[in-house]
Amino acid sequence: MFSPLSQPLVFTDSVIANQPFVTKTFITVDNPATEKLLTSVSCVDDAGIEHAVQSAELGFGTLKSMHSQARSDLLMRWYQLVIDYIDALAEIMTLEQGKPLAEAKGEVIYGAEFIRWFAEECKRSYGQQIPSNNNHQQLSTIRQPIGVVLAITPWNFPIAMITRKVAPAIAAGCSVILKPSELTPLSALALAHLAIRAGFPKGAFNVLLTDDAPSLVSKLLADHRVKKVTFTGSTQVGRILLAQAANTVKRTSMELGGNAPFIVFDSANLDQAVDGLIKSKFRNAGQACVATNRVLLDASIAGDFTAKLLTKVATLKTGNGLSNDTDLGPLINQAAKLRLVATIEQAICEGASWVFGETAFAEAKCSKDNFLPVVVLGNINQDMAIFQQELFGPVVLLSQFESEQQAIELANSTEYGLAAYFYSQNINQVHRVAESLTFGMVGINEGLISNAIAPFGGIKQSGLGREGGQAGLDEYLQQKYLCLNIK
Ligand code: NAD
Repeated sequence: MFSPLSQPLVFTDSVIANQPFVTKTFITVDNPATEKLLTSVSCVDDAGIEHAVQSAELGFGTLKSMHSQARSDLLMRWYQLVIDYIDALAEIMTLEQGKPLAEAKGEVIYGAEFIRWFAEECKRSYGQQIPSNNNHQQLSTIRQPIGVVLAITPWNFPIAMITRKVAPAIAAGCSVILKPSELTPLSALALAHLAIRAGFPKGAFNVLLTDDAPSLVSKLLADHRVKKVTFTGSTQVGRILLAQAANTVKRTSMELGGNAPFIVFDSANLDQAVDGLIKSKFRNAGQACVATNRVLLDASIAGDFTAKLLTKVATLKTGNGLSNDTDLGPLINQAAKLRLVATIEQAICEGASWVFGETAFAEAKCSKDNFLPVVVLGNINQDMAIFQQELFGPVVLLSQFESEQQAIELANSTEYGLAAYFYSQNINQVHRVAESLTFGMVGINEGLISNAIAPFGGIKQSGLGREGGQAGLDEYLQQKYLCLNIK
């Protein structure tokens, strides 16, 4: 049996100025598949927070004085080490987060792609020459790094959510203080130690572990030396952080929750749509911000689609992510399972019907582990609470519509605006629907859309800013306008 403590990449203390910062206050890290203790990690204290800010200021000084090729080389060395250590990183991730090993490896590659993309993009942070409207002034802009960045990340993608913030920050010349999720600190520490091995300057990438995120984060948000906060997590916490960041007028990027619709029109290729739904719904056991939440079916194909879907979901196996035949790992913890059980039971009380999984659900409810089997509920309507909630689990909700207009209205009737998906073979409909959906990202005949080279992000209550693509670098740069008198 794999023991995480025997791995070369397992670290248990915060990282400040490229050194472990050791304290005597600990939090435990558990394996969600077995609920057994993996290890304990130490929590940073007030002295550590101050040390991290000073270290990050020094790191910023070093990074901004490096030319872009040097920062690019640094990132490429980090990228290569992440790829070289793919097996160890994936195993750590599966142990502390629960996702199947093959998915964990996929996330390491996806996460590494952000490092590679920004290593290249780093060299293209051009300013502008502005054609002047008079004869005595030359007008131009330059783009400069913002400064010390506070990055806060969730547990569901413990590597990719970090690299898609840290890589563009370093590419731009900003230093980072990362506060990873307390549920998945080992992946974050492993990434930081690989960055040190890659030659990151002291203070460029600091990681602070804590058992009291609100207190640590509010201290850093009140600090004028921290110039930006970039957050990935729930909308509820994002709102708190936006309010706190207002006091020091920090730049903010917010990657928040989602409630993705998945629309299947009558012209859709149903097999392709079912495959797309399986991918978008069950990756990470449904614990993804872009996971499909609501399946909206044209009434004329609803029966055929559901039959094909049930054939597929019946083959999905829930279990420990370290087993080769596992399709769905556990939920992250008991609290997540209890919340989802209550949400499903309320939906049934409000009139939802069981389509798949009733018996397995009843058994899972009584067991004390973190596993929840696949559940498919029918007869869902927009007045039910479940229609408006981010599910974060392997639960499929089926609704029907009678017209394209009704499908769009149903899809858009949520406060969230992250990802949406639709399947149609009708070219005119593809254009109409793509334009009408009020979401930051739309998958058209495609269920997996995340890509390091494209702008990821939401509108409405799903957030502000973009990660990945060209836009990802802009989040860490500020424009300066230069007006030169040439007379
Ligand atoms: P969360 O909001 O509970 O926690 C996210 C991070 O914020 C963690 O590091 C946590 O310790 C910290 N935190 C929690 N409360 C805080 C507070 N009061 N002050 C300061 N920091 C605080 O989210 P989670 O449960 O870790 O992750 C799941 C959520 O993340 C879902 O809503 C999901 O949609 C969202 N998410 C969004 C994206 C995206 O790109 N839009 C990607 C992944 C996850």
